[in-house]
Amino acid sequence: MKAVRILIICLLSATASLAAAQKKASQPDVFLITIDTLRADHVHCYGYEHIQTPALDSLAKDGIRFVQAFTPSPITNTSHTTILTGLLPSRHAVTDFAVPLAATHPTWAELLKKKGYHTAAFIGAVILDSKTLAPGLDRGFDFYDNFPEHPQTKSRWGRVERRGMDVVQHAERWLNAHPTGPHFVWVHLYDPHDPYEPPPPYSQTYKDHLYDGEIAYADSALANFVAYLKKQGWYENSVVIVVGDHGEGLGEHHEDTHGIFLYDSTTHVPLILKLAGRGDAGKMVNAQVRTTDILPTVLDLLHVPLPERLDGESLKPYFGGMEDASRTAFGETDYPLRFGWAPLRSVRAEGFKFIDAPRPELYDLHTDPGELKNTYAPWGTTVQKFRAMLAELRAKMPPSQPSAGAVSQGTIDELEALGYLGRADAGSSSNVPEPSLLPYPKDEIEEQNLLHTAMMASEDDRPADARGALEKVLQLDPKSPTALRQLGELELHAGDYSKAAEHLKRAREVRPEDATAAFEEGQALDKIGDLADARDALEASLKLTPGQFPARLLLGQVYLGLKDARAAEDQFEAALLLQPNSVEAQLGMAKAEIAQGSFADAVRQLEPLSRTQPDNAGVFELLAQAYRGMGKTEEAERVESRAKNLKRR
Ligand SMILES: [Zn+2]
Repeated sequence: MKAVRILIICLLSATASLAAAQKKASQPDVFLITIDTLRADHVHCYGYEHIQTPALDSLAKDGIRFVQAFTPSPITNTSHTTILTGLLPSRHAVTDFAVPLAATHPTWAELLKKKGYHTAAFIGAVILDSKTLAPGLDRGFDFYDNFPEHPQTKSRWGRVERRGMDVVQHAERWLNAHPTGPHFVWVHLYDPHDPYEPPPPYSQTYKDHLYDGEIAYADSALANFVAYLKKQGWYENSVVIVVGDHGEGLGEHHEDTHGIFLYDSTTHVPLILKLAGRGDAGKMVNAQVRTTDILPTVLDLLHVPLPERLDGESLKPYFGGMEDASRTAFGETDYPLRFGWAPLRSVRAEGFKFIDAPRPELYDLHTDPGELKNTYAPWGTTVQKFRAMLAELRAKMPPSQPSAGAVSQGTIDELEALGYLGRADAGSSSNVPEPSLLPYPKDEIEEQNLLHTAMMASEDDRPADARGALEKVLQLDPKSPTALRQLGELELHAGDYSKAAEHLKRAREVRPEDATAAFEEGQALDKIGDLADARDALEASLKLTPGQFPARLLLGQVYLGLKDARAAEDQFEAALLLQPNSVEAQLGMAKAEIAQGSFADAVRQLEPLSRTQPDNAGVFELLAQAYRGMGKTEEAERVESRAKNLKRR
């Protein structure tokens, strides 16, 4: 009887594993690898001779290489959201950092999870962290490899960025722990993004072109991942997609990095698609396609019904040669708004590129692939046609509600560590003026390059370089509020408080609504002992943004210094509303009470604090003053000796 039962159990489990195997066979694993800041024309299999990218080349041999693939967005979180939703930026609306992806837009991971996929994402930079800068992008993932909330390290590695090999190892570890498929795993390799600091031997082999060194290094991480898939026996029957999120300016059109312009340098990306079972291995598709087409293609391959509204279409008709026509590629960037400059829109179709800007541009890509000769004429038929296409697209899109997501100071620091302008300039977060009235980014690009250089130098602890770049910005534009504030922050950090106060004062003259500059000016003035002006700056800052705890606290202390204990008490009270457990605010409150002769109130404030802060000498010193004020000499002496003992430690 026992033997029969074992036999039945064996049969049942055999059937179950057969069913699992069949299920796995019918649903291929899907691996999406996005390589950040990857220009198509810097990849070996795209014709670039100065680099070795063996992993990308071999994937192209096993799969289909799209020669002309374009991203609609030159900025990381926006372009990744497009890849993961199949939607244009103006539709998914994630056009700025920290803007949450609306729940109404289904994501790649959600759609596959519903079909029984095990899903995980491994990111290489905090720019895609779903807790801070990319909320909602984790939807549908069983596991999303965010960065630690309280990083133990000050180095950029592990805090704001992970090397490709780390990202890949995280993914492999997860796959080892979750071997049951089908899998959908997204791996994001951030390496080619600036600063260009590849590890050895890439730092040596590519020492004169470090950007390429980063690409070659990312390729080696990709090689590691593909080798892992092969070792697991998953490669053959999986769908593997490799795509760049956007390119890199590398000085073309005077743009060093990316985000501001919509030229091919930052929008033309490599796209390689390996099918399950290596169908169409080695095929090349020359037609123009878009990164919005990737999700519809994968859903088509997996026979998953497409969401109602997508901005791309399946690329499947190209595989069998059923289609060879180019598709219209739209481009959109709102990143210039961060600097107070006009956002840009573009159309790339029929061998032309039209850029809608305060001074519009039209390029004939047949004769001018570098987009150097603007042939725009207002009444040209191509211009008219492309303008109409943009108008039609705009009409179809939901009304734009530009909103900088609410971000903490820590997140702003992370953004700046990655070289993005952390705080938006005036006009970008709300009531955006008519774009044609804003400065044209083309006139401002030198300034943006210098600001970027300064940010990277500050992050790298090279204040002299940062100062040099910012001073150059001020030569170009003496009233650049961003440069003035950054210089102020630099001097504040360096301890040159009078210089800091001077720069910040000028920043506020240009942009009186800048609450941060006002707070920082208050800090600098307090340090140099100019308490009356510090008070005015802090009051101005808090009038603009009332909920700033550090500014409340400092203003309370400034009022104490000015011997206005009444006003100080008001500020500490407001600070305690924001952070009821703040020891500093409670001490401030007690000081203000003692200064007004309200000794009993101070004792009521301090006694509980003396129990929670038994090692804080400051608490006992104040308590002694309060006891003395009340005439309680004995108690005063007791706590005084306690304070002395603590100080002696
Ligand atoms: Zn990117």
